[in-house]
Amino acid sequence: MKFYKPDNLNELLGYINNLENKFYLLAGGTDINVQIKNGFINDEEIIYINHLDELRNIEDSERELKLGTLVTFAEILNSDLISNNFPFLQESLKNFASPLLQNMATIGGNIANGSPTADVLPLLLVLEAKLELVSSNSSRVVEIKDYFTGYKKTLLKSDEIIKNIILSKDKYHLFTKKLYKKVGARNALTIAKAAIACLIKTNNQVIEDFVIAAGSLNEFARRLYRVENYLIGKKFSELDYTEIETLLRKEITPISDIRSDKEYRFQVFYNLLENFLTV
Ligand SMILES: Cc1cc2nc3c(=O)[nH]c(=O)nc-3n(C[C@H](O)[C@H](O)[C@H](O)COP(=O)(O)OP(=O)(O)OC[C@H]3O[C@@H](n4cnc5c(N)ncnc54)[C@H](O)[C@@H]3O)c2cc1C
Repeated sequence: MKFYKPDNLNELLGYINNLENKFYLLAGGTDINVQIKNGFINDEEIIYINHLDELRNIEDSERELKLGTLVTFAEILNSDLISNNFPFLQESLKNFASPLLQNMATIGGNIANGSPTADVLPLLLVLEAKLELVSSNSSRVVEIKDYFTGYKKTLLKSDEIIKNIILSKDKYHLFTKKLYKKVGARNALTIAKAAIACLIKTNNQVIEDFVIAAGSLNEFARRLYRVENYLIGKKFSELDYTEIETLLRKEITPISDIRSDKEYRFQVFYNLLENFLTV
């Protein structure tokens, strides 16, 4: 295993561009170090990036907030810019791991690691976040809903990294009610068995807008468009919960594993959604 520490972003991207071996970035190290320790990573190159302050900014502008990939969960929880613009994001991440982990774990690492259980993904999906991906000779912005293409598979090219996470302020303030819930075996230091994020805009008992995302229930966290399309434009009194359950069963395909049973996962998710729509 070879270890490399670039002096700046340009050097990092140039190095990656010329690299033939598979590599991993070491940002906070909270995922990658576990994989190294367990022997899943052996011959690959490890590139340390945690010292690159140019990837750690939170930039505010009139219409968006840009979070550098190295922004940690502790920084998210303590940021005035985030509490002023996206209090829902801050509130929702309070139970991320533990204070120790919050100080190390980065938002970019949480996305890039590609776990279906990553806490930040359902939130970024309903906030319609975008990712800025850069290489030594390109820069592009993709929507987070398109980023994952399969289990731990993404559209990131081999010479690209995630540089920024972009949150648009345009729609956020229009939503009248918000929910994020991560269900695990305990409150602290828990991995989600199921996670739900949803935002709703209502007017005179009519659902004018609705976005929902699920974590831990498919091969990657995703928006549930069938449910959204069914709900938007309906009055609460018109909702057919049998139909909602049928649509949900088409969109979430939980598995049974050491953490939970697939029907339990489904039922918990359904109950959280029903509760959100009826209370
Ligand atoms: C005890 C424990 C508890 C945990 N609890 C939680 C929890 O409650 N919720 C949760 O969601 N996760 C949890 N995790 C998982 C982990 O902490 C998070 O996924 C974390 O956000 C990963 O970020 P990192 O900076 O440590 O990533 P790293 O370990 O440094 O990197 C992870 C992966 O991302 C890639 N990567 C990192 N940055 C970039 C980038 N900018 N561009 C492209 N690829 C990149 C690396 O190559 C690597 O493959 C826990 C882990 C541990 C060990």
